[in-house]
Amino acid sequence: MPKILIVGGGYAGFYTAWKLEKHLRRGEAEVVVVDPLPYMTYLPFLPEVASGNIEPRHAVVSLRRHLKRTRVINARVTNIDHANKTATISPEGGEDWQYDYDQIVVTAGSVSRTFPIAGIADNAIGLKSIEEAVAARDTLVRNFERAASLPVGSELRKRLLTVIVVGGGFAGIETLGELRSAANALLGQFPDISYDETQFHLIEAMGRIMPEVSLPTSEKVLKDLAQRGAHVHLDTQVADATDGVVKTNTGEEYPSGLIIWTAGVMANPKVVNGSDLPREQRGRITTQADLRVVDAEGNLVEGAWAAGDVAAVPDKTGGLPDGTCVPNAQHAVRQAKQLAKNMVAVIRGEDPVDYYHKNLGAVAGLGLYHGAFQSGKFALTGFFAWLAHRGYHGLAMPTWERKWRVIWGWVHNFFLGRDQVQISKVQEPRAFFEEYASRPKPKAD
Ligand SMILES: Cc1cc2nc3c(=O)[nH]c(=O)nc-3n(C[C@H](O)[C@H](O)[C@H](O)COP(=O)(O)OP(=O)(O)OC[C@H]3O[C@@H](n4cnc5c(N)ncnc54)[C@H](O)[C@@H]3O)c2cc1C
Repeated sequence: MPKILIVGGGYAGFYTAWKLEKHLRRGEAEVVVVDPLPYMTYLPFLPEVASGNIEPRHAVVSLRRHLKRTRVINARVTNIDHANKTATISPEGGEDWQYDYDQIVVTAGSVSRTFPIAGIADNAIGLKSIEEAVAARDTLVRNFERAASLPVGSELRKRLLTVIVVGGGFAGIETLGELRSAANALLGQFPDISYDETQFHLIEAMGRIMPEVSLPTSEKVLKDLAQRGAHVHLDTQVADATDGVVKTNTGEEYPSGLIIWTAGVMANPKVVNGSDLPREQRGRITTQADLRVVDAEGNLVEGAWAAGDVAAVPDKTGGLPDGTCVPNAQHAVRQAKQLAKNMVAVIRGEDPVDYYHKNLGAVAGLGLYHGAFQSGKFALTGFFAWLAHRGYHGLAMPTWERKWRVIWGWVHNFFLGRDQVQISKVQEPRAFFEEYASRPKPKAD
């Protein structure tokens, strides 16, 4: 039986395995997914997790529950020696071991792309994982609690009530809008904190936000955010963030208790650099349009496939300047579905089909009842765009079990309000027990 190794069980990896289960006959191939995480994360929901509109566990999909015929291994792949078709599996706290495969699918995604700006690595947090979204949610609430116990006008109180988001792409703008909306809801619980004390700033190096929507739509979003007290600084760069004080190249200075970095992604460098697979100048594994890996000369690398953010897949619609698909979920899911079909075709000696997907448009949730939607020339902002965002993503969430949890959670929140209790103490769960636990008396000499 051929052995198929999938590196990464995120969007592209999960869908590849899920569809392989559907297309492969019993006994036709063995499929293994390796991911350090036991779940696929629905990243478009992270801003809503950060704002308390979606419960964190509902925004992830358990691999073991939904991949019934796939072997799931929770570990990292730390090396791919494709010349010998073997990968190094590194389990947490255990010895590395080798897995020999016939076909490999690299779907290890991307990581936050940062620049060497002093203080960012030490004080900021990304928004690329469920853990980061939970931390952002807890920090916002905890900062309100701390600020409320400090005198009005004190430096620390101002800092705790200031949120900075860096990067005006979709993820950054959604995060800003969602957190602003979460803060408005929190103000109802903190009568001693005034609206004017809460500061929300987004720093964007370019002259516009959200390149996925038209300029007029992006300008409407800017206006909406400004009316809601969320300030976007265009043509501005972060120059320094030492000790959590964000300084911009325009001379502004914002001490902040929560700095979220969403200024771009790059292909997972550890997986790409730990492999002998060909890559392009931006560090992505190069594929041809049928998702099989090729080198710079266009020679096929037999038995290797890639999809999602880690791959440079040709965009056959010809819509983009660099000729490759942009890193987004729309592509990751559809590439994975095509990849699974193509893999089965190749195993059966049939011809694979090129990946072709025309952009469907974009929807963004910008906080409760605020959104943006663009499809071709048609654009919407406001309540109906927000409904479109919820409708699209509620249904796009994989598996009915997960869709149900998310949609039911929204219904709960409509009647009960979002749950804004923070449990940041979960980061040190043994502290309370340890404080009172009896210990053996030291032995007398
Ligand atoms: C906040 C946010 C909002 C977004 N909103 C949208 C949106 O509205 N619409 C849209 O189209 N796109 C959106 N995206 C982009 C979209 O989510 C990504 O393009 C998509 O997740 C890429 O899928 P992927 O499978 O390539 O990577 P991922 O889904 O990130 O999966 C990669 C997987 O690889 C695993 N992995 C990493 N290292 C290893 C290793 N060494 N060994 C094994 N496994 C490993 C990871 O644990 C992870 O599970 C958003 C992204 C973010 C961050």
